[in-house]
Amino acid sequence: MTTATVVGSGPNGLAAAVVLARAGVDVTVLEGADEIGGGTRTVEAIVPGLLHDHCSAVHPMAAGSPLLRDLGLDRYGLRWRLPEIDCVHPLDDGTAGVLHRSLTETAANLGPDGRRWRALFEAPAEGYEALSEDILGPLLRPPSHPLKLVRFGAPTLLPALTLARVFRTPQARALWLGVAAHAFRPLDLPLSSAIGLGILTAGHRHGWAVAEGGSQAITRALAALLRDLGGTIETGVWVRSASQLPPSDVVLWDVAPSVLAEILGDRLPPHSLRAYRRFRYGPAAHKVDFAVEGGVPWRAEAARRAGTVHLGGPPAEVAAAERAVHIGRMPPRPFVLVGQQYLADPARSVGNIHPVWAYAHVPHGYDGDITQAVVARIERFAPGFRERIVGTAAEPPAGFAAGNPNFVGGNILTGAKDARQLLFGPRVTLRPYDTGLPGHFICSAATPPGPGAHGMCGANAAARALSHLRSRSS
Ligand SMILES: Cc1cc2nc3c(=O)[nH]c(=O)nc-3n(C[C@H](O)[C@H](O)[C@H](O)COP(=O)(O)OP(=O)(O)OC[C@H]3O[C@@H](n4cnc5c(N)ncnc54)[C@H](O)[C@@H]3O)c2cc1C
Repeated sequence: MTTATVVGSGPNGLAAAVVLARAGVDVTVLEGADEIGGGTRTVEAIVPGLLHDHCSAVHPMAAGSPLLRDLGLDRYGLRWRLPEIDCVHPLDDGTAGVLHRSLTETAANLGPDGRRWRALFEAPAEGYEALSEDILGPLLRPPSHPLKLVRFGAPTLLPALTLARVFRTPQARALWLGVAAHAFRPLDLPLSSAIGLGILTAGHRHGWAVAEGGSQAITRALAALLRDLGGTIETGVWVRSASQLPPSDVVLWDVAPSVLAEILGDRLPPHSLRAYRRFRYGPAAHKVDFAVEGGVPWRAEAARRAGTVHLGGPPAEVAAAERAVHIGRMPPRPFVLVGQQYLADPARSVGNIHPVWAYAHVPHGYDGDITQAVVARIERFAPGFRERIVGTAAEPPAGFAAGNPNFVGGNILTGAKDARQLLFGPRVTLRPYDTGLPGHFICSAATPPGPGAHGMCGANAAARALSHLRSRSS
């Protein structure tokens, strides 16, 4: 029987494993940590029973992932839940940019900018299923739907700040820039719109969904399906050298490129080794989880009903914060994302104590303690928040990097999303999943289509591995 080893059990590793196992391959997954899931783990960090997503929390891309939808993971307990409002970006005067899944509701809230928001997102969101065939794989290949891709792709080339000028109101501009900031890129650079446009388009189609019971449900469902397909998963096995691998026909690596360079070393062809060693990582996340009695008393009423709240302040402040972390400076007013997943999934709370998830964008490897800065940031838009805090748990960049080698320096995207890495992935090639070492493929979020729990990097890499196996046997 054909055999495969998958190193790493993040959503991409497990997605790759499932695709291979469905094709009849005997799959073994080796995971270094004691628990599966990588960036989808869910923890009881502060109060017993209070569920915090350790990393990923909000899943417009995963809810719309062609792979995850096709696998029927609801049979294995994966259920998506939607908040009443997807995302809110509050401003100091108590107003806010408000994002609904529905374009009509979003447009109605954005007043004079509603028409422009609709013009930007209506067609791509309606055609999202077709569009995803082109944007959820290697970007440099003949598109299946060229017109749809051009319509979606043209604005992605623009700096996010340039695209913001389409809007007249501070609310719409701030809402757009807060989502664009998910790219951890200076917002005046070309292509800094790409990730924000992708998230918003997927969100208008599928909503900013959370997984019932925590993001762990995504990888638990994949793992259960894998076991049903005959695959096995071993935890507590850090692969540090190729000699540790069991004999197998193909190996898929759900690891960061620089880590793969260390593991495979000179076994890789020189051009791959060079590219993986030079792979660049971007700014980091510093996370603070809160247990909050009665929830966050947001001044903007819509924020009390929103799954995600972006604390970036006015557009210039968002831009300054992203520029600062890019050049290695801690901004005085960092961009902070707040997740209130319990609003869509109330069983994560314990009585009137609610889990509030937050992280700030900080420089790569930043080692200062910013818990109080995050509290101050929330307090600015929710006076009285401090008094409601029952407990906190912080995870600095070094903590993320120590727990998961894919988050180098606390860079939670597994790679800077500069133009080259966004377009090509870890090395300049039309086959971003091929390592150049026959039978070895890389499938982590460093490869297209990039970060998230959608599993599409894994699915695409597994498709390459299967075509390698077919070509070998023919
Ligand atoms: C704080 C934070 C917030 C985030 N928020 C979101 C969000 O809201 N929405 C979203 O879509 N995404 C979010 N992300 C990003 C998302 O978690 C990642 O993009 C996603 O988990 C990538 O999946 P992956 O399978 O490529 O890698 P990972 O999930 O990182 O999994 C890799 C796995 O491989 C294991 N591994 C690595 N090296 C080895 C080795 N040598 N031997 C054995 N095992 C190894 C690791 O232990 C890990 O389990 C967030 C991440 C963080 C940290």
